[in-house]
Amino acid sequence: MANTLPPSSLTAARAGLDQKKFSCRELTQAYLDRIQKDNGRLHALLAVYGDDALAHADQLDRRKKFAHPLAGIPMVLKDIFLAAGTKTTAGSKILENYTATYDGTVVEKLKQQDSILLGKSNMDEFACGSSTEHSAFGPTKNPWDATRVPGGSSGGSAAAVAAGMSCFAMGSDTGGSIRQPASLCGIVGLKPTYGRVSRYGLMAMASSLDQIGPFTRTVEDTAIVLRAIAGLDPKDSTTSPQPVPDYAAALRKSIKGLRIGVPKEYFSDSTAGLEDGVRKSFSAALKILETLGAKIVTDISLPHTDYALAAYYVIMPAELSANLARYDGIRYGLSRREAPTLIAQYAETRGAGFGAEIRRRIMLGTYALSAGYYDAYYKKALAVRTLVRQDFEQAFKKVDCLVTPTSPTVAFKIGAKADDPLSMYLADVYTVAGNVAGVPGLSLPVGLAEPPEGGVKLPVGLQLIGKPFDEETILRAGHHLEQAVKFSCDPKL
Ligand code: GLN
Repeated sequence: MANTLPPSSLTAARAGLDQKKFSCRELTQAYLDRIQKDNGRLHALLAVYGDDALAHADQLDRRKKFAHPLAGIPMVLKDIFLAAGTKTTAGSKILENYTATYDGTVVEKLKQQDSILLGKSNMDEFACGSSTEHSAFGPTKNPWDATRVPGGSSGGSAAAVAAGMSCFAMGSDTGGSIRQPASLCGIVGLKPTYGRVSRYGLMAMASSLDQIGPFTRTVEDTAIVLRAIAGLDPKDSTTSPQPVPDYAAALRKSIKGLRIGVPKEYFSDSTAGLEDGVRKSFSAALKILETLGAKIVTDISLPHTDYALAAYYVIMPAELSANLARYDGIRYGLSRREAPTLIAQYAETRGAGFGAEIRRRIMLGTYALSAGYYDAYYKKALAVRTLVRQDFEQAFKKVDCLVTPTSPTVAFKIGAKADDPLSMYLADVYTVAGNVAGVPGLSLPVGLAEPPEGGVKLPVGLQLIGKPFDEETILRAGHHLEQAVKFSCDPKL
């Protein structure tokens, strides 16, 4: 495979390795070559472990057989996953020099399966953002158009997979951070049900919303990775004992008769900010689902949708402010600043270590949790959360899954929303409700659309939302749609 492009999917890489069309070293080298060629320009990866990756590949090449579906398959981890011995920054200056001391559960599972770690990917600081511009180490560029953002907060992982720098990548999704960048980069991304995948060893952003999931180039690949990482973990008490099905096997069954609901609040003419191109690709995809035999149900309502984003932006900063309290410059990371008192020392260190968006959210979150305001904000948001969850429960009495655009826009220009937090927060308008309710969401590319200001056509993503622990249905619907759409994941590099 010398000097050739990496395979188009994980399934293709697996077949190539199993049939000895190429060695594990050759496969790994093909991705490293891509990284060498494009990472300087796209800044998707913060760290690359070329020598270690090749050494691991050589070790696997010496074995006769690959024991696991992910054996020998190269991947990258968002820089918020603890992997022993790797620098793990969460995109923040406050952890610039922090080296992880242990493997999180997902990392351990991927290592046990002999997936090859190529590097760590760039991200918005502590996963707060929708563009990867809030990384302390500079923004990642979108491989389809380097003047645009890849989405966020897992933008580095999405860009790496879209640019062929990795076979798959891991991300985290608290309000959309897997699905939205997958959409903006023209690849597949899944946020599993809350509790499906252990978050032990994932630095916490907002603990009641965080979930780990994969980025891949095909839905089948996502099914394969999900099976490898899902399941009960005694180290994360929120994980579920529900058995982990063979997600890839579930793709085969047709979607004839599947009832797919379009929530009217998500796709009404008045939906603010939904771009025309996105609307058109979405409508075309609905027609395709119908021709595949699915029944599109349009009188589905999620009446509290409008409040989901507002509730999220109270719950998330509240939990974030508590989770980030541990970064005080004494126990982790940035060496502490000298100051006359302990409190002043915390303030100096945290002021220097956290970026503006993080400081904004800590202030909002601390305020929402403070005496006198707790009832008015935090408790109210939790009540809204119950209503949002009930909306989904009601909808799923009528349909098997829901479909929405993933993002109201295609990839926007770097800088376009950087100074306007509210417009940045609106990038998640279609994804946050899934986290607030804890249900799974899959984004897959369904077309290309010209951005409103003109320029090269950019990917449009469609989101399928499923019942809790029913990833099988959304993967199956996504797989059949993907086969019919025939989207080419390759940006011109
Ligand atoms: N963009 C959202 C936020 O900034 C979601 C982040 C995420 O999912 N990690 O909060």
